[in-house]
Amino acid sequence: MPVLIRNAQVFAPHALGQCEVLLAGSRIAQVSSGKIDIGGSSLEVFDAAGRWLLPGFVDVLTHPCGGGGEGGFANRTAEISCEEFIRAGVTTPVGALGTDSIARKLEVLFGKVMELRARGLSALMYNGSYRIPPATLTGDVARDLVLVEPVIGLGEVAVADHRSSQPSVAEMCRLAADVHLGGTLSGKRGVVFLHMGDGQDGLGLIERVLESSDLPRRLFYPTHINRRRGLFEQAIEHVKAGGYADITASTTPELLAAGDLRAVEALREAIAAGAPAERLSLSSDAGGSLPLYRDGELVGLKSAPPSVLLGTLAEVMGSQESLVEPVIAALTRNPAAALGLAGKGRVAAGADADLLLLEPDTGRLTDVFCLGRRLMSDGNIQ
Ligand code: ZN
Repeated sequence: MPVLIRNAQVFAPHALGQCEVLLAGSRIAQVSSGKIDIGGSSLEVFDAAGRWLLPGFVDVLTHPCGGGGEGGFANRTAEISCEEFIRAGVTTPVGALGTDSIARKLEVLFGKVMELRARGLSALMYNGSYRIPPATLTGDVARDLVLVEPVIGLGEVAVADHRSSQPSVAEMCRLAADVHLGGTLSGKRGVVFLHMGDGQDGLGLIERVLESSDLPRRLFYPTHINRRRGLFEQAIEHVKAGGYADITASTTPELLAAGDLRAVEALREAIAAGAPAERLSLSSDAGGSLPLYRDGELVGLKSAPPSVLLGTLAEVMGSQESLVEPVIAALTRNPAAALGLAGKGRVAAGADADLLLLEPDTGRLTDVFCLGRRLMSDGNIQ
């Protein structure tokens, strides 16, 4: 039965004011500031007065099978449940292996992605991991893109990091060319999603790859750009030149003290520096490991939760109004555009019916729809 959502304040992600939104099957059929009349057809009417309606979050970096392991086996982080993604408003989680492609396998990630889909989410995945040669499902990066539908790119490939494979310009060119070819043949965007480490070279390798090849800049999508200032400034230039870049929302007091820029601050600064806001995204790195220190000693690891995205939105709601739309866009439309997901990240006729309803006073998420299916209703998982 079609669902008519009435009286919500709609962010498409730009503010549309109070609108009616009609869902039919897995899509949004109509968005109107007036009354939607569907004649005598039966439909479920849902009054969302006082609430905000926005697109479901597209989280371009998650580790749904867990991550970590850098400090030994005791530091492996746990899987993320479907319920946790729903409660965080993440309707399109994009899964990655991370550092470990030896004791963690792409086949397991594929299985987890398919589980999340079976439970109603629009989950996707990258092949590869930090390492090169990359982990693949079919033996070839481009074949994975063409033959395995949920694979939308390669990631997160580590550069400028002591844990990376220290790829040369030639190696990165070949790898990116394979992703580009796989994307071209499959009709997918095909991205090389880059884990940016603390290394001084930052995006230097990618600039040398672009200088010495015919590859397009939008192929390279760096994340963790807010981990240190030098990298952040390089990323702003990359975005100004036509690339996309991703800001990590999860952090710890220790990481902030060591030079991490808070996600909201990074977004504000990048926009103020002239970076086109529509090419900046925010991701959770959910399942990634966050080191915990006491008196300078490593005492354990915490796993980043997907809920940091809602937390980032809550941070600007009510206090930094000018950042509300840019933050919502960075959680929805922008990452969808970076990954070439035409139906995602928008509240518009024809888009996928992936929607969130939340209370503006408290920031509490009350309802989640994905592909027209109601996954959470008034705070209760369905
Ligand atoms: Zn990473």
